[in-house]
Amino acid sequence: MARKYLIETFGCQMNVHDSERMAGLLEQAGFEATEEAAEADVVVINTCSVRERAEEKLYTRLGELRLMAAEHGHDPIVAVAGCVAQQEGAAILKRSAGVADVVLGTQAIRRLPMLVEQAATTRRPLVDLDPFEDVTFPLGVTRRSDPVKAYVTIIEGCNEFCSFCVVPYTRGHERMRPLADILGEVREAADSGRREVQLLGQIVNHYEAPDVPGCDFAGLLEAVHEISGIERIRFASPHPRHVSPRLLSAMARLPKVCRHLHLPVQSGSTRVLESMRRRYTRESYLDLVGRIRGSLPGVALSTDMIVGFPGETAADFDDTLSLTAAVRFQCMFSFKYSPRPNTLAEKRLADDVAEGEKTRRIVALQALQRSIQSGLHDALVGQTVDVLVDGASRRLDTELSGRTSQNVVVNLPGPQAWIGRTLAVTLERAGAHSVWGRAVAGDRDTGPAAPGDPADGEGRA
Ligand code: SF4
Repeated sequence: MARKYLIETFGCQMNVHDSERMAGLLEQAGFEATEEAAEADVVVINTCSVRERAEEKLYTRLGELRLMAAEHGHDPIVAVAGCVAQQEGAAILKRSAGVADVVLGTQAIRRLPMLVEQAATTRRPLVDLDPFEDVTFPLGVTRRSDPVKAYVTIIEGCNEFCSFCVVPYTRGHERMRPLADILGEVREAADSGRREVQLLGQIVNHYEAPDVPGCDFAGLLEAVHEISGIERIRFASPHPRHVSPRLLSAMARLPKVCRHLHLPVQSGSTRVLESMRRRYTRESYLDLVGRIRGSLPGVALSTDMIVGFPGETAADFDDTLSLTAAVRFQCMFSFKYSPRPNTLAEKRLADDVAEGEKTRRIVALQALQRSIQSGLHDALVGQTVDVLVDGASRRLDTELSGRTSQNVVVNLPGPQAWIGRTLAVTLERAGAHSVWGRAVAGDRDTGPAAPGDPADGEGRA
């Protein structure tokens, strides 16, 4: 009987994609996936250290695995991967009191099967934290978990050293992946039926192809746009400092590139931005937003925001609220500041905003954002939009879910056979987080039966 593996992923899309790679490597080594720790021979916990809470989740989970071993005698090989592994190294072995068998850094993914075999044979703990290396990964290994979207890494690491951020320490300096590798992986994703590609990197718009002189991120978008089978191109995340006129012109010209930009701002106060080492100001960010909206009509913007950064006064926070109100983001990921190990802010700045005040600020910011989002969603009701159906809705078995080009989540009734199709959907109802609609008759796609298709027998919307 084949041995089984379980991978649990905390954190961002980069981590989700790393988990897809580790799953592919373990399957190549003869393992089969399982959803249950109780039947897994190997449990991989792929960690994130961008937020403190994600790190706490690791130790809680290790405690649960320790209990499973003590109470039920099931003691799988436990490997801790990702940013916390890179950062903490052997300290994880000590803190986990013998539960973790392998700690592998962000560069050691390819050696996972070998490390697991070694640990299983010797039952001695192993730590592999090799230095950061070039970004290459063999094609055909990744086991993609999403039938519609494919994540493709284009850059690893970051050289910006924002004062709050742990990424340059856990993912290393910026390394660009060769254009030929990226295009090969996108073609492979298209050939396996994926309709959308999401290009990933810490600062995607800093991309410069190491193998094609002069090819920047706009050039990469043009090249990916040529690949048939791919209908939509998204990317995360661009840095406001590197949004060039060339990028905006490419986005305006290339219809497959979605009308959505995730543009992390982090604060609305120039004073705080300076202390964060973001190297733009409130004014230059707002100016950029104006230029983006001028070049890309109908574009949706989303962002990341931190509240309670060291030294953030009530007036600074008011700047964050007023910037939020001025830009009217489609979506926002907001967090209370917590010092991350090794960062400049942790070493040099006192975490001086009281916890209660951080909570008050985040509640106020999230309430404002919710009302903006609801208003933007309400304005969509009555419109007919193209939706790429990407899965079953989380709420109901009979409901599907998809996204517009602007990344708005749309729920609609319909059969599972529509997953992977782009449908015209008339929007009927709006909520704070998503909208609801129905596919219209006469849909132009050529996949399984949709409303208005002659063959449409059941599941009419
Ligand atoms: S740009 Fe700043 S926040 Fe983003 S990954 Fe780099 S250091 Fe972190």
